[in-house]
Amino acid sequence: MDYIDGLSPAVSIDQKSTSHNPRSTVGTVTEIYDYMRLLFARAGIPHCPICGREVVKQSAEEIVDKIETLPASTRVLILSPLVRARKGTYQAVFEEIRKAGFTRARVDGNVHSLDDEINLDRYKQHTIEAVVDRLVISQNGEKEDQKAARTRLTDSVETALKFGEGYVSVNLVDQKQDIHFSEHLACPEHGVSISEVEPRTFSFNTPQGACPDCQGLGSKLVEIDPERIIPDPERSLNEGAIASMEWSGPKEEGGYYWQGLQAAARAYRIDLDTPVSEMTKEQLDIILYGTGERQVQMTYRNSNGHEFRFSRAFEGVITNLERRYRETNSEYIREKISEFMSDRPCPTCKGKRLNPAALAVTVDDINIITATSWPVLKTLEWVKKLSGKNSPLTPKQRTIAERVLKEIHDRLTFLVNVSTTHPTRYTGRLTAGRRAVCARRTVHWFAPA
Ligand SMILES: [Zn+2]
Ligand SMILES: [Zn+2]
Repeated sequence: MDYIDGLSPAVSIDQKSTSHNPRSTVGTVTEIYDYMRLLFARAGIPHCPICGREVVKQSAEEIVDKIETLPASTRVLILSPLVRARKGTYQAVFEEIRKAGFTRARVDGNVHSLDDEINLDRYKQHTIEAVVDRLVISQNGEKEDQKAARTRLTDSVETALKFGEGYVSVNLVDQKQDIHFSEHLACPEHGVSISEVEPRTFSFNTPQGACPDCQGLGSKLVEIDPERIIPDPERSLNEGAIASMEWSGPKEEGGYYWQGLQAAARAYRIDLDTPVSEMTKEQLDIILYGTGERQVQMTYRNSNGHEFRFSRAFEGVITNLERRYRETNSEYIREKISEFMSDRPCPTCKGKRLNPAALAVTVDDINIITATSWPVLKTLEWVKKLSGKNSPLTPKQRTIAERVLKEIHDRLTFLVNVSTTHPTRYTGRLTAGRRAVCARRTVHWFAPA
């Protein structure tokens, strides 16, 4: 049996974990999510996250078989893709193609002889393929001819795969159409390779699974929230309306930042005793987002009483905090500033926490996040459909997924029964302590309510 590391074969569902939310989804139950990962690793079909095409590994022989099904007399070029939409002049690539004994290259869709100089615009994107062979598909003729044709095609495909590091493209010359193949688990057109699909592909806290943008958190601390930086707009700036210490007014030390704010206020005639709620939007924008290019006269008095006069632009409270958040090496300062920031769903994964390749693996056209964010009953119906008579799975998929489907089915059924016999269990909210425990658990997550 192949279980997920560390998952005992006879897990019983932790009752506590089923009791936290009436809108509980299976994604919130670690053990079921673990089995779901196993299901998707076994029966999931990977797709290219760019074009959505199903991604399959093909051997040279399978590729040859496909090419041979083209209509007789189709003229084809066998190509090794070497550069895909990248900037550069690529003289070294042309040299490499020449050295490998090929005489032509297709550059941005046009075939060139390598005897000619090929000058590319350094600042434009280019696609370069070596022309490995030019053939006409023959299907009739003597058996011997057929055999010879297949041998030549096989040789060319193998050569192209080798030179193209596992990729080969076939150009149908008259139809002006390309067919792409790969012997990797990769989109033959976009070259996006999908590493072997494994249970950890669907884990938020492994590099194989996590969204690279938010590291699997699903959200990002992106910006300073004006409502957090000014929690009480009835206060004036002099009364400490700004919650961040450096700008909280004269009662603090009135250091460099506060003096900068005072200088900007003086230049723009902003009254520091006016409640923030009564300031105009323009005035508040100066305070929060700065004076832009405009410099203001500043007299800075340091703690020894020395005075320095100079003029400089006032950066603005929010602009300053966001810059320091990005630039500081101090975990402490970052922590402090993050108190004024708000979470936004990660723009890359939209809060789904997995990387695009993991999200593009589907079972019955459904990805793992969708399947685990449904209400439990709906997920159960889906699992029943997968193992039922009219299963959308292929017989092969069903065989390899059968055991896992049963495990998921039993656990979901258990969950549904618990919810109907002990409805009160579902009314509790997560306590802070429980939430902390869950947050520490590795694959535990909470579907957005
Ligand atoms: Zn693609
Ligand atoms: Zn993300």
